[in-house]
Amino acid sequence: MEGENTKSKQLYEQAKKIISGGVSSPVRAIQPYPFYTESAQGSRIKDVDGNEYIDFCMGYGPNLLGHAHPEIKQAIAEQLDNGWLYGTPLENEVKLAEKVTDAYPSMDMLRFVSSGSEATMSAIRTARGYTGKNKILKIEGGFHGTHDSVLVKAGSGATTLGKPNSKGVPEEVTKHTLQAPFNDIESMTELIEKNRDDMAAVIMEPVMGNIGPILPKENYLKEVRKVTEENDVVLIFDEVITGFRLAMGGAQEYYNVTPDMTTLGKIVGGGMPVGVFGGKREIMDMVAPNGNVYQAGTFSGNPATLSAGIATMDVLENENVHDTLNKKGDEIRSCLSDIISDAGLDYEVSGISSMFKVFFGKAPTNYQETLKCDKSGYFDFFKRMLNDGIFLPPSQFETNFLSYAHSDSDIQKLLNAYESNLKQS
Ligand SMILES: *Cc1c(COP(=O)(O)O)cnc(C)c1O
Repeated sequence: MEGENTKSKQLYEQAKKIISGGVSSPVRAIQPYPFYTESAQGSRIKDVDGNEYIDFCMGYGPNLLGHAHPEIKQAIAEQLDNGWLYGTPLENEVKLAEKVTDAYPSMDMLRFVSSGSEATMSAIRTARGYTGKNKILKIEGGFHGTHDSVLVKAGSGATTLGKPNSKGVPEEVTKHTLQAPFNDIESMTELIEKNRDDMAAVIMEPVMGNIGPILPKENYLKEVRKVTEENDVVLIFDEVITGFRLAMGGAQEYYNVTPDMTTLGKIVGGGMPVGVFGGKREIMDMVAPNGNVYQAGTFSGNPATLSAGIATMDVLENENVHDTLNKKGDEIRSCLSDIISDAGLDYEVSGISSMFKVFFGKAPTNYQETLKCDKSGYFDFFKRMLNDGIFLPPSQFETNFLSYAHSDSDIQKLLNAYESNLKQS
């Protein structure tokens, strides 16, 4: 992919002059320069220099069915014929809300917004309004988007770039954000009990997806549910990655734990900008116009997003997408483990369902352990994979995503590339 005068390189040089950092989201600023995409279909993404890659980044999660899925494309195209922004309610809003609340019985009511960040921001505000309390507890390395309350020890690009605590966020805001390590119920319990009088909510990814995939230990989520319930703290599951991925009903279905509120994003919009927040009726009734927690958006309930979301739900309901992906994911993880042990490396594989990752070190159980992995060794490996036509997310701290569009031969190519490129590590 690297060359002296590629079009991607030229575009990046140009971009750096007029777009801050050259990119619209920091994780895309792959050095020395990122490839610029021309098109993507199914499991493949093509750059402007004519290179094609098998894509295991999949837009960082939304494209569960692969790129340009024909049924989603058709749904968006039909919507375009009817206009694409109304500023009024529309039938598809009701339809998609029904599908989502059917899949997530914990959500009596919901609201559509335009991004995962907006969803978690609104969920936290609603929980604060409902409880009349200020503090929230998040998990170290948890990523919930980029609004002020959650940019403390945040995962995703914030961790990759070594900027987990953002400048520009007043201490007056972050002092209300407490942190506990994942998989450590004692720390969480202690913090909740100590701050009981002012603790509004716990927000967490039930499976951590933004510092690898890190799975919850047995019973951890049930214990979190118990301690939050006992202390009248709103439990928010941020299922922006796990929603519609681990199962139709997300991690809460998979692990059989019922939160008070849920945030969704990524898959639920079929690749169009989306966020959803929802939960118990008495909590969601706090939101304007019914209640006094203000929340609004010009692009909320976007017609093209709703169409793409409904088409996605239809495919998920009608085909055996989750079973297929869960099975293929298990195969990939087990083959990767074999490859690692054959190569005599002390690396470990982690993941669940369509999420997988080789950690250059021991598979972490929390944020502090993730930081011990060989980040720069991983980045070199990422580049070798790219040269071999495999596009993985460019960081040790981002999950690889398998999609429904990946064929058995795509997977075989992936495994072959791991085998030859891990050896050079
Ligand atoms: C991606 C992500 C977000 C933020 O969603 P955006 O649409 O990028 O704003 C929030 N929470 C989790 C768990 C995510 O993975």
